[in-house]
Amino acid sequence: MRPELQSYRHLASGKVREIYEIDADTLLLVASDRISAYDHILRPAIPDKGRILTAMSFFWFETLGVPNHLAGGPTDERIPAEALGRSMVVRRLPMVQVECVARGYLTGSGLLDYRASGSVCGVALPAGLDEASRLPEPIFTPATKAAQGDHDENISFERVVEQEGADLADRLRSATLDIYRRGAQLAAERGIILADTKFEFGSGADGELVLADEVLTPDSSRYWEAATYQPGQVQPSFDKQIVRNWLTGPDSGWDRAADTTPPALPEDVVARTRERYIEAYEWISQRSFADWPDHD
Ligand code: ATP
Ligand code: MG
Repeated sequence: MRPELQSYRHLASGKVREIYEIDADTLLLVASDRISAYDHILRPAIPDKGRILTAMSFFWFETLGVPNHLAGGPTDERIPAEALGRSMVVRRLPMVQVECVARGYLTGSGLLDYRASGSVCGVALPAGLDEASRLPEPIFTPATKAAQGDHDENISFERVVEQEGADLADRLRSATLDIYRRGAQLAAERGIILADTKFEFGSGADGELVLADEVLTPDSSRYWEAATYQPGQVQPSFDKQIVRNWLTGPDSGWDRAADTTPPALPEDVVARTRERYIEAYEWISQRSFADWPDHD
């Protein structure tokens, strides 16, 4: 018999995930189907998004083969039936208070920083780079872990050294770049550009870095289709472009600048977005989503 979800203490709600306590050393991370765009949580949710992103995290944890926080498989008996497929049983770790971002391409806050200063998080870059430019080599661009509702703020490597010490800062940077490179390499073999991504690390018993949280999902990463990549302009998001196009297009009636609550997504936008997430998972993992566990 699987436990009831209510039998676990609920610790916190993120924008996308719910965190429960299994015991003093173990957490249950449950991914919801919530989707956000332009800093708004949208209605309705995208059916199966939580399962798809969980499947992707498991795929990457297995494929990367670095120490990670998983304390059980996707059908671990501690996962309640209703949360099957969307849950990870993980070791509860002290989390390093740095968002470990790696960028292989310039966009978003990285591009803004570059345009203002010629560098990102203190990493000097060559002149003449533009939206979506490929960087000469991937860079480590750490950010603060902002409180809920706030935006993460890019910080310099020196700030990480001050906060975490030189040894840990060095290890965070090399682990982040190493894992990014391997993820980007595998994605590239499958026709997908991993433009950037964010990792979170916990500290293991002997001080070793443990890859935690979700990993290389579309919620923590920017995926672009290699076939349509065109530097110099904002790239379509592999997963969210259908939603973004509708929201900012003529049919939604939504004024992004006014920052009002976006209208509910139409059924076909929801359905097409769901298909897109499945496509991303199957394309990258070469696994069938139909095989992924689901609640009964
Ligand atoms: P956001 O919606 O901006 O992502 P969030 O990061 O606070 O907000 P979630 O990502 O939904 O929320 O929740 C995951 C939380 O669990 C994060 O605070 C993350 O740091 C934490 N976490 C992930 N893995 C572990 C772990 N192994 N041990 C302890 N905490 C973890
Ligand atoms: Mg998070």
